[in-house]
Amino acid sequence: DAKVSGKARTSVYDAAMQCAVDTRASVRSALGDGVRGGELRLLYQPLVRLADGQPVGAEALVRWERPGHGLLEPAAFVPAARESALITEVDCWVLTEALRRCAPWCRAGATVSVNLSGRSLEGDALVDALSAALHRWDVPARAVVLDVTETDLQRVSRTAERTLARLRSLGAGLAVDDFGSGASSLVNLRGTRAAQVKLDASLVADLDVDASAGSVAGAFITTAHALGLTVVAEGVERRSQAEVLREMRCDLAQGWLFGRPGDGSLLDARFAAGQRRRVSATA
Ligand code: C2E
Ligand code: MG
Ligand code: MG
Repeated sequence: DAKVSGKARTSVYDAAMQCAVDTRASVRSALGDGVRGGELRLLYQPLVRLADGQPVGAEALVRWERPGHGLLEPAAFVPAARESALITEVDCWVLTEALRRCAPWCRAGATVSVNLSGRSLEGDALVDALSAALHRWDVPARAVVLDVTETDLQRVSRTAERTLARLRSLGAGLAVDDFGSGASSLVNLRGTRAAQVKLDASLVADLDVDASAGSVAGAFITTAHALGLTVVAEGVERRSQAEVLREMRCDLAQGWLFGRPGDGSLLDARFAAGQRRRVSATA
């Protein structure tokens, strides 16, 4: 009896698993056509300096305008893409498009952050894409920040390490994204030679209302600074969170308080001077 119901459960489970696998496979094949057919979009979220609230750069966040499905967030397609080489196509497109769009801001001193998946670091495509885009859009390499999650960085292979070194030698900086959502320590990340660490939104969520959450965030900020890292707080939604972070000497912040991901017009306005200088210089 137990055997029978066990079997039945197994087949229900298998069917559900098979369905999830099929869904991801169909998402992947539609996404492959979508990437090549120009269906990816980028939104830009400002990074602000906590000391004075000024925007200093932007993070590019990918969206997929899937016909018949609307504008999809990364959670709906990035996990499927990460199961295949398709993620590299996505990441290379994002890197190229973000540098094109942000080039005038970068020449005016802003930074542009782009998310890379660990899997994309296994080949040469990103190095080629970065070097081509820097040259083609005349972007200063120091303006480029590559976000790789703490979890992906912990798993990096020898090949991926070499890719990171090559990206760094082109002049780009590395940021440890979603720090505090995994289980590593900042000291473990020293070997990655990151320039920036981004405190995961979960660490920021209640640091203004819960003293122990505040102490944890404060300790991370102090340690990161001791290691020479710039600290970015993610998911800042309230003034009181920004206030606490500023007291803790956190350098930069991102979140709805300062700006939702958008078309970048906010940064066009902030960094328009650089663009105008450039245009008149070449006119
Ligand atoms: P992330 O790099 O940590 O990006 C921050 C995420 O937090 C974004 O979600 C952003 O919209 C969201 N966010 C920003 N401010 C707030 C806030 O105040 N409150 C809350 N609740 N959320 C906020 P999004 O755009 O859905 O992206 C999710 C993740 O997808 C990103 O996390 C990143 O890991 C990944 N991703 C995005 N673009 C790319 C890409 O081009 N390539 C790869 N490989 N991954 C990407
Ligand atoms: Mg990021
Ligand atoms: Mg993050």
